[in-house]
This record gives sequence, structure tokens and C-alpha cells, in this order.
Amino acid sequence: MENASIAEILEEYAKYLEINNEDFFRVRAYNSAARSVLGLDFNIAEILKSGEELPKIKGVGKNIQGHIEEIVNSGTFHELEEIKSNTPQILIVMNKIPGVGAKKAFKIHKELGVNSLGELEYACIENRLAMLDGFGEKSQNKILKNIEYVKLSMQRRLLADAEETAEKIHSFFESIDYVEKYEIAGSYRRKLETVKDLDLVIVAQGESNVLDKIAKEGFFDEIREGGEKKISAALDGLPVDLRCFEKDDFYTALHHFTGSKAHHERLRGIAKSKNFKINEYGIFQGDKKLKVSSEEEIYEILGLHYIPPELREGIFEFREDLDFENLVTEEDIKGIFHIHTNYSDGAMALQDIVDYCRSRNFKYTGISDHSRSAFYAGGLKEEELFDQIEKIDAVNAENRDFFVFKGIESDILPDGSLDYSKDVLQKLDFVIASIHSHFNMSMSEMTDRIIKAVNNPCTKILGHPTGRLLLSRDGYQVDMYEVIKECCRNNVIIELNCNPYRLDIDWRYLQTLIKEGGRVILCPDAHSKNGFEHIKYGVYAARKGGLTPAHVLNTLDTDGIAGILKNKC
Ligand SMILES: [Zn+2]
Ligand SMILES: [Zn+2]
Repeated sequence: MENASIAEILEEYAKYLEINNEDFFRVRAYNSAARSVLGLDFNIAEILKSGEELPKIKGVGKNIQGHIEEIVNSGTFHELEEIKSNTPQILIVMNKIPGVGAKKAFKIHKELGVNSLGELEYACIENRLAMLDGFGEKSQNKILKNIEYVKLSMQRRLLADAEETAEKIHSFFESIDYVEKYEIAGSYRRKLETVKDLDLVIVAQGESNVLDKIAKEGFFDEIREGGEKKISAALDGLPVDLRCFEKDDFYTALHHFTGSKAHHERLRGIAKSKNFKINEYGIFQGDKKLKVSSEEEIYEILGLHYIPPELREGIFEFREDLDFENLVTEEDIKGIFHIHTNYSDGAMALQDIVDYCRSRNFKYTGISDHSRSAFYAGGLKEEELFDQIEKIDAVNAENRDFFVFKGIESDILPDGSLDYSKDVLQKLDFVIASIHSHFNMSMSEMTDRIIKAVNNPCTKILGHPTGRLLLSRDGYQVDMYEVIKECCRNNVIIELNCNPYRLDIDWRYLQTLIKEGGRVILCPDAHSKNGFEHIKYGVYAARKGGLTPAHVLNTLDTDGIAGILKNKC
């Protein structure tokens, strides 16, 4: 077991304590224990398994150490399971609503007797929330609007979350031998940033009622509807549709159920113009069903270049000038920028980041902690930044085959200026300019604010340009076309933030960016080791946007990146 998993479980407990309005100091104790665990340079589970005594961990007393031992042995601990089963579901749901938070959720539940999302909505409509101490009409309206997001997130989930369920499905299919071939199709296969369900396309070997047999394995949490050709099941609360096909129909079925609707509509039009017909049952020339043994063949028959699943959104995949054969892959990424260290709100020390990047065969990294205005995220005071610069120089002096670029993620202040003076920013290799506060500006104000930051000669990268958090918060109002144009004019690189909640810039803007001559940089915005894994979601999004390695800055080698960053302000 990794330390990160232990930390996650401790944090989960803290969250539950908070939701249940427990003592603030207890909540803080578990959160800080989790942070200490994340920052350790040894593996707790290994030490415990070896029977050795655990070295003293900051903030971990006898009690929490007991929990940790239990976690290592059983994956959880008693108190966590207890509080989980005693927590009313509505508190968990309300806690996810922006503008509510743990304290207010508890108050709403206790004082208004709200037990479901519907009741909360109704209480808002009846103006009962606004009357509650500590609330008001403004916060009531905000909550009412945010309920919509929660409803949405209950219907859809992040690709990263659906992937966990998909992994379970893969292991299940590995454990049975009567399914010859299967694939998860749908928006999951298209790597859409959020998915509503998983669609499985299956071929069985010599089995008459394979879906029935699968249903009886007891693997799925629920079988909602059964049938010979299709069953609707659920796993982890995610709907899963399983459809069974003859072997010869596998690829046309896979293609059909991969979608999207918009892609198929375009494809049907093209097929018709060439005297073919394509639908759920296959591809036809007149009445004759054509045999296909790959998806590539379907496109070939229609005289088209092959369109990978990620591109099938009916947006720009039919354009002739795009190079879909060389879409960027994770292996193309040579190094990563936008990493937070324990100087601000990251969990990893500089040296750990370097070691980790080297173990992943990255050639360089770009460190960018929060700037001083982001005090809530431990933003760096000038002295701290200078200290970090010195440490990075020392690391670079020691390493010949790995380079650390010195940077900062500077807040874009409400008036569009950056944190720190020019003298300070000049000491750095790069500045990421990002918005972290004052989201509620009009579109023209916000666009002006960002454009001013982009025109600052110190700005090299524009961080998460819309500020959206998928399924929980819309981006701020901003004219992205103007921002893209200004970035390209000023040689500012736009970040594609790879965090699965962000994926910001949205891939739908990427062709516009390319047309303007711009490039992106794929940044995990990592705050811990786990964050580095997010690069793959950025790669998916980049592929959906039709990007090749030439469009992605961090496919360059160290000298290439250094060349781009060399003009300091
Ligand atoms: Zn940020
Ligand atoms: Zn960041």
C-alpha cells in the first residue's frame, strides 16, 4: 500500500468529521496527519510489514498511528466505517454544493429538516434558506443554481472516475472464459471528459445466452433489465449496458456504439452520397451487407481516412487537412511543467519531484508554486521564492541529464497585474499566470484582465484559462477567442491543464488555437505524486483536439524548451 492511499483514507475521515460538524481541531489533526504521511520518504506499509517500529511521524499520535496500522492491514479503519454508515446521505450531497460547505449543510439538515436534494431545492424556492441565520437571499440563489450542477454530476461522472469502474470490468472479463471479444465503447472510448454510462460490445464463443450467464455471475451491483441481446446493469452507481453480437458484426457494432451521434450523422450523409448505407446493423451496398474485420475498413470503404475514436465528435474530424495518424501520445511528453512543491500547497519536496520525474524518464520539469497573493494556498513570499531558486540552482548543478526550470504560478490580480515586481520575476525561467480569485466579473472585464496579464512580458504560460471545474463549476465568463488571439500575438503558451476536473483549455478550442499559430503545454498541475498521473487525461484531451506532437510544447527536448523560454522579461 502506498502512503498516498493511507493519506487519502485519513483525509476521508477528516471530511466525514467535518460533515458531521465535529470539533475543528480533530478535523485539522487528521488533515495534517495526512499531509505528513504524504511527505514521508519511506513506505509505511513496508515498515509495518517488516515488523520494525514506525519512525515518529509529525502530527501522528498514538491514536492516528493505530488507525494507520488498521488501514495497512484492512484498507480502512473502524471509526471511519462507523462514521460513514452513520452520516446522513444528504450531508454528503450538500457538502458537494458550492456555497454550502460542511457547516452550512449541517445547519440546513438540522434546522430545516432537509433530507434530500429535492427538499433543499424546495426550501430555496420557498425562501426558507434565506431566512436561516447566516444565509441570505444571495446565497440562497447561488445554492439554487448550484443544485443544478449537483444534479448533473449525479447523472454524469468524470472520465477518471469512470476509468476506475472500467478497470473492474476489465478484470472481471479476464476472469471468465466464455467471452471471446469485448470492448467498452461509447463516450468512454471517445475519452470524453465526462461520461454518463458504459456501453459494452460483446462477442461470445459457442454460448447461447451469454448475457444471462454474465448476469448470474453476481459481478454487477444491479441488473436493471435483462434480455438475450442486451442487459442493463450498474456498477459503482454507473449504468453499464451490455450488448451481445455475432462475431462478424463486432466491428460495425463497436463502431456504432462508440458514437457519437453527431459523427454518425455526418458519416451516414457521406455514405449515402457514395451509395452506401451505414447503421446499427452494419454497412451495406444496396441490400448486400459488407463484411468488415476492422473499424479502419469501414472508413476505407467510404473513401475516408481512418478517424480514431477520440475524434468522433462530429466537429472537425472530417477535415482533410488534419493529421490524425500522428496524434500526440503520452510517450511523446519529454517533461512536465506546473508542479507545486511543499513550499506552497504541494505535498512533495523538490528532490522527490526530481527523483520521480527521472524515474518516469522525463528530461526536465518546471516548478511553479503559488504566488504570494494566494495566501490560502501557501503562496510564496519573496524570501521563500529566492530560497527555492537557490535550491533549484543547486539541483541543476548536480544533474547533467535532468533540468529544473524555475517558475511561479502567479495570480492574475483583479486589475490584470501579476504578483511580485519585474525584478523578482526576471530571476525565473517562466511565469504561469492564472486566475484564482474574483471569478465573478463581467465577460469584458474578465477578458481585459486576462489580456492585460498576457501582454505582460513576464508571462510565458496562461494557466487553466477558463477556471472551469467539470461537473461543479462553470468557467468564468471570458471571450476565449480574444484570449487565444492575444496569447498567440504575445507568444504566450496556453496551458492544457491535465487535472481531470479541469482539462482546461477545453479541447474544443484547440483547432482555433492552432489556426492562430499557437501551441499548448500539457501540465498536470500536480500537488502530489498522484497528480503526475493526470498527464494522460491531458493527452486524451489533446488528441480529441487533433493535436500532434508539434503542437505540444513539452514534446520538445530540454534545449528546445529552454530556447522558447529564453527571452526573459
Ligand atoms: Zn492554478
Ligand atoms: Zn497550480
